[in-house]
Amino acid sequence: MTGASADTLNKPGNTVPARAMRALTLVADRKIELLEVAAPPAPATGEVQIRIKAIGLNHIDVWGWRGMAFAKRKLPLIVGVEAAGEIAAVGPGVTSRQPGDRVVAYGALTCGTCKACREGRDNLCENVASIMGFHVDGFARDFVNMPARLVVPIPERVSFRDAACAPVAFGTVQHMLFDNAKLEPGETILVQAGGSGIGSTAIKMARAIGATVITTVGDDAKEDKARALGADHVINYKTDRFESIVRKLTGKKGVDVAFEHVGPDTFNGSLLCLKRGGRLVTCGSTSGQSITMNLFQLYLQQYRIFGSFGCSIRNIRESLAKMADGLTPVIDTEVPLSEFERGLARLESRQVFGKIIVMF
Ligand SMILES: [Zn+2]
Repeated sequence: MTGASADTLNKPGNTVPARAMRALTLVADRKIELLEVAAPPAPATGEVQIRIKAIGLNHIDVWGWRGMAFAKRKLPLIVGVEAAGEIAAVGPGVTSRQPGDRVVAYGALTCGTCKACREGRDNLCENVASIMGFHVDGFARDFVNMPARLVVPIPERVSFRDAACAPVAFGTVQHMLFDNAKLEPGETILVQAGGSGIGSTAIKMARAIGATVITTVGDDAKEDKARALGADHVINYKTDRFESIVRKLTGKKGVDVAFEHVGPDTFNGSLLCLKRGGRLVTCGSTSGQSITMNLFQLYLQQYRIFGSFGCSIRNIRESLAKMADGLTPVIDTEVPLSEFERGLARLESRQVFGKIIVMF
């Protein structure tokens, strides 16, 4: 954990008075407890201390909560992968931020010095240590110390609640659509699961640049909501074969880009929806891990497939700028700290439309 352990609580010489703080801690698979732990010490050189205000929930939280055999991590673990807050204190040598600044944090502990980091491709860091809230202690606590280089200021017009969607949800979609798939105005995109946090974000971002959006949803109630976000065509994938409808809607040509994160349930169908030379970009696989793929189809149709995970710090800045311009996240529910686990269960059940935010 970043911060003091219990035995340093009352040690003389600490520059900040010892104090306790709340931390939502995963103690076993599917078991999160709100514990009192020692607050972190004063920020070290190059660090800032953030007072957390809001946490965005994502599928990575659900994976962590359910337990992942292959992930290298130790319990207990403070949860929370995506957060917004304000600077409570700055460490020596930090001049770019000051107490009171509203910020979000980049939760992957990158090295900051490798070629990828130097080129601003942070999510391709060669020495990334871990993801906060998944491998090591995360943001669901009152205070956290972070390297100042990993925090991004929140524009004035953006609330903590909305900003909490920037580091993972908005950043991921920004990276998928514009760095990887290079979606352009006038193109057509298929957004799978348009009611999810990233699906709803993808609909809004694609519409905002003038792309035509076809989206899938899992129930009728979500159809109107997806249309209200700007989707041009909404398909209920439980009652209709989305592949056939997309072919019809595009005059048998197919779409330029498919936005995937569902996995085996939809992946091959998404490929079938692409036009020749189309791009599929995926950042998730909520319905499973493996598929069988037709390689003839892959090269004859000259598909381009992008695996995408996380984003760069630049993508977070771009996301916050979009929010300041009015492209705000779709919020499903706002819940108090005590209902973090209920939020995860709701996310897991796919009953959501938009993001679930936990407020401190
Ligand atoms: Zn690096």
